[in-house]
Amino acid sequence: MRADLHVHSNASDGTDPPAEVMSRAARAGVDVVALTDHDTTAGLTQAREALPGPLTLVPGMELSARLEDRSRGGSASSPRGQHSVHLLAYLFDPGDPELAAETRRIRDDRILRARAMVDRLIGLGVPITWDDVAAIAGAAVVGRPHIARAMAASGAIASPEQAFTADWIADGGRAYVDRYALDPVRAIGLVRAAGGVTVLAHPRADRALLVSDEQIASLAAAGLAGVEVVHPDQPEAEQAKLFGLTRDLGLIATGGSDDHGRLTGHRIGSYTAPPGAYESLVAQATGSQPIRGG
Ligand SMILES: [Zn+2]
Ligand SMILES: [Zn+2]
Repeated sequence: MRADLHVHSNASDGTDPPAEVMSRAARAGVDVVALTDHDTTAGLTQAREALPGPLTLVPGMELSARLEDRSRGGSASSPRGQHSVHLLAYLFDPGDPELAAETRRIRDDRILRARAMVDRLIGLGVPITWDDVAAIAGAAVVGRPHIARAMAASGAIASPEQAFTADWIADGGRAYVDRYALDPVRAIGLVRAAGGVTVLAHPRADRALLVSDEQIASLAAAGLAGVEVVHPDQPEAEQAKLFGLTRDLGLIATGGSDDHGRLTGHRIGSYTAPPGAYESLVAQATGSQPIRGG
């Protein structure tokens, strides 16, 4: 039994449509695959419809959350000692209104945040409009680089790079607006209320996403079901430590490839969950069922 419990499609930032992700999973020989696009379940319908015979699909999602970090004073990339964490949610009811509203809010936030920064800049006397910024962004998801270009075009600054200072839209700058992100304890509660289970994604894969043993213990107390131990960016020594920690805390040790299609070299199935992880997640979930293909 091989289960890859972490893959992305082009419903978020993967390169391949959900149907193609499912056929790649089948060709890679996995028995179970979880589709875990960022903050959306939009790919699930297509994945389900295209699901090949022997494959089982676990409905999922990777939620963006933010952890308050009292042990660190903060840095340029995390102003007030906060940092991002990713949570893998599985087998929740995709129609749950509260969970759906929160994920919509996370997705809509990109635009709201850019608009709020433009409003602050206008308040600071910068002669730009939202339409200027939107025109520069075109079809792309609007972000700070587009705002910076609009500022330069208006003559407020000489070049776009000059926007990224404390005077303007650098992290913590006068016109900077934080991303909206869920508190992880609230995210765990929302997923649980929707009948699902939550797994902390790759807590040791990347400095920016580091979650300490103490933080994992407090998330466990809040209802976290498991920790993603097997992950391509997580060193073996860290995986060994996390196996010990999950045992001590009574959490499920899971794993997956975090495949993003071409962006990650089509590695679906090359990293899979430890034996029993899939069954343990299913046993704790009531919001939806794994879907069998064929
Ligand atoms: Zn992630
Ligand atoms: Zn991911």
